[in-house]
Amino acid sequence: MPRAAPSPETLLEVPPQSRPFAGALPGVVEGERPTLDQIRRELGDCRRCKLCSGRKNIVFGSGNPRAELVFVGEGPGADEDVQGVPFVGAAGQLLTKMIEAMGYNRDLVYICNVVKCRPPGNRNPEPDEVTACEPFLRAQLQAVRPKAIVALGKFAAQTLLRDTTPITRMRGQWREYEGIKLMPTFHPAYLLRQPAEKKKAWEDLQQVMKFFGKQPGQRG
Ligand code: URA
Repeated sequence: MPRAAPSPETLLEVPPQSRPFAGALPGVVEGERPTLDQIRRELGDCRRCKLCSGRKNIVFGSGNPRAELVFVGEGPGADEDVQGVPFVGAAGQLLTKMIEAMGYNRDLVYICNVVKCRPPGNRNPEPDEVTACEPFLRAQLQAVRPKAIVALGKFAAQTLLRDTTPITRMRGQWREYEGIKLMPTFHPAYLLRQPAEKKKAWEDLQQVMKFFGKQPGQRG
């Protein structure tokens, strides 16, 4: 049977590496757990990739530095670039609702992205940009050390897991990232374009709630 052409959702844009990430983590002293402040200081006024030229603000991350649950997105959009805060635009409003439906709020969880600067015109991050920024994401996850991670969309899932499987196939299955449970699911921006897929994303998030022993409607 002829193979279907890949859809934009399945195109491979992260480096196809199968080995675990082996580079030094910025702000991390061998054997020590970094703090988010140390990592942010290390990032500084970052010029490590070309995204620096168009950004207004670095969007580092927001929320609880001791969160049991971390959400990882792709990269800032226009609203996030202006405010310096992740997921505050239309997709962010949907993510906020998803977080609240799970019984959390944005201050209880931690939210960050694969790349910390807005790709121009909201294009996808390019491999060199992901490579430059990824160590900071890994360091953030080492700092927060959550019990579970929700990877929002293919960039987060494929980058963290070093797995090029399309998100349509990866979603809904528990994976492991550095000993931490990781649930890949659809990106909220995709859900805004494809609202019929929200049901699947909710099923994925319900698995995460079950892991934490949370019932729908239960807060805190
Ligand atoms: N999309 C993302 O992936 N991250 C944001 O912060 C906003 C939109």
